Amino acid sequence: MSRISGILFCLAAAAACGRADASPLGDTSAAANPHGVTVRVLDVGQGDATYITNGGSRVIIDGGPDERRFGHLLDSLGIRNDTVDAVILTHAHFDHYSGLRELFRSSRHITVRYFFENGDPSTAASLRELRDSVAARVAAGALIYRDTDDPCGDGRPVCTLTLRGGALLHVLRPYPGRLTVNDRSAAVKLVGADSASFTMWLAGDAEHAAIDWFLWDADYDHVPGMRVHVLKGDHHGSCNGVSGEYLQALRPDTAVLSIGAHNDYGHMHAQAKAVYRAAGVPWYRTDENGTITIYSPGRPGGGYHIAVQRPGVDRDGPSDRPASARGCEDD
Ligand SMILES: [Zn+2]
Repeated sequence: MSRISGILFCLAAAAACGRADASPLGDTSAAANPHGVTVRVLDVGQGDATYITNGGSRVIIDGGPDERRFGHLLDSLGIRNDTVDAVILTHAHFDHYSGLRELFRSSRHITVRYFFENGDPSTAASLRELRDSVAARVAAGALIYRDTDDPCGDGRPVCTLTLRGGALLHVLRPYPGRLTVNDRSAAVKLVGADSASFTMWLAGDAEHAAIDWFLWDADYDHVPGMRVHVLKGDHHGSCNGVSGEYLQALRPDTAVLSIGAHNDYGHMHAQAKAVYRAAGVPWYRTDENGTITIYSPGRPGGGYHIAVQRPGVDRDGPSDRPASARGCEDD
């Protein structure tokens, strides 16, 4: 494992480090508890966007499919004239990168310190626009770029960021094959300041080939370890984003899934729900519950809790349907 030494440790006075979040859900602020970690799985429709705060550090993983919608979310979170310490684009699909372009809009005056992505070739003009924005800031010395295939720039597969409140973010090299764009998703493991209270696994749209590689080739089950409290379910609840072996390694209490209420893919697939049910893993989903917020105070025994924008226990959504058997293998 490699580590970006202290890059995200707060160097300012404690009061400046403990700036409060402007949260529409009113969770505990960094000022009140600098060790607390808040994870918001944002309701961006059919796509992914996750916002993590800890002790004044800010991390964004993916930005969803819609710039305008992500912009409104940034506004509601009070992110303007601010620094985002790390942005991680899990993989080069529109429903993950498109909204990130809003972060780089000059009128927002947002500084991004580190940007991680896999750099895979793409002909998409919208991705080129994002990459051009990143490259311009790199050229100006305002941003550090990391290729997720070498996340710390030293050849090691796991790069660990230390957030100001003591939480750790492990950025994991993705599957090196080129089967699908989804399988090139980087995985991220978040470890709360009290690791016994809260850990979370997020792996973009990784499908079975990548999942098997995480388990059997990369051996992430040993380093950094895959057992977590919460799983951000892969690939919007597609049946190719989950398996019994995967859940056996992760053993999450709960899964949270980011899904568009009206999507063309049949997400969440009936087969995926059967796999989660067989493992005894309940789930929340953004199409039913809206933005899902997880908070852990980061003190021993503090545990974690989950708050949803729209309470309810409906595990089914309007687009859910079974996938074809073949779709569950390589969709
Ligand atoms: Zn996706």
